Amino acid sequence: MIHIRTKDEIELIRKSALMVTATLTEVAAFLKPGITTASVDKMAETFIRDNGGVPSFKNYHGFPASLCISVNETVVHGFPSDYIIKDGDIISVDCGVFMNEYHGDHAYTFAIGDVKPEVLKLLQVTKESLHRAIFQARENNRVGDISFAVENYTAKEHSYGVVRELVGHGVGRKLHEDPQVPNYGRRGDGKRLKEGMVLAIEPMINLGTREVQTLEDGWTVVTADRKPSAHFEHTTVVRKGRGEALSNFAPIEAAEAKNTELNSSHNPQPEKTAE
Ligand code: MG
Ligand code: MG
Repeated sequence: MIHIRTKDEIELIRKSALMVTATLTEVAAFLKPGITTASVDKMAETFIRDNGGVPSFKNYHGFPASLCISVNETVVHGFPSDYIIKDGDIISVDCGVFMNEYHGDHAYTFAIGDVKPEVLKLLQVTKESLHRAIFQARENNRVGDISFAVENYTAKEHSYGVVRELVGHGVGRKLHEDPQVPNYGRRGDGKRLKEGMVLAIEPMINLGTREVQTLEDGWTVVTADRKPSAHFEHTTVVRKGRGEALSNFAPIEAAEAKNTELNSSHNPQPEKTAE
């Protein structure tokens, strides 16, 4: 069954979603070459708990951490580990927070240092496909209109691989609710959207093939050709006219830009002046 949330419920989901935004903003400022992905997870878990939230993913069907941290060819569900982040990596960070009986779910792919232009383009296009999908999350559209928006822009216009094995979903009292929201499909297909439905829309887009494999740990999903993959996600409410993201990329982007500037080796040193 697909829930229609009241105004008050939507505001509670917004609080959880914005707590994820705040967490990903902390992550944006924290990420740099030379640190482990486990240290990022530890920082984020402390931040979430200090702010009165509970990490939604920790122990979810046995998931061992608070964040999914998926590096380069890892699509989703990467375990934080002793992997040391390198210049040129892309790091997808997916985070859920449970507060006031509701979950928020939100993801962002970060570029570390000098990332190849073709990979930066993948990030840009994936993020833009999410914005296009949210535009379609409007009353009387159907789930397929969201799916089509992602697939058409990423696969048809840019020839990227759209992951099919994993999909977006309803989000609310449970982390994963109905309906499923695939990133591929046809306009006008699927369940009709009603104002107040809350959906986690989350394109997972590969630079190469759309085929993926799950590693022996039973969780980590990687691209079959080991080329990079990007993942952006917003908790989104269906509205009349167009969908509304309850989570927010703006503070994350600002922190990422500031961090990139701080860590840039091309940063000019202040000139010394002779007295
Ligand atoms: Mg997520
Ligand atoms: Mg999700």
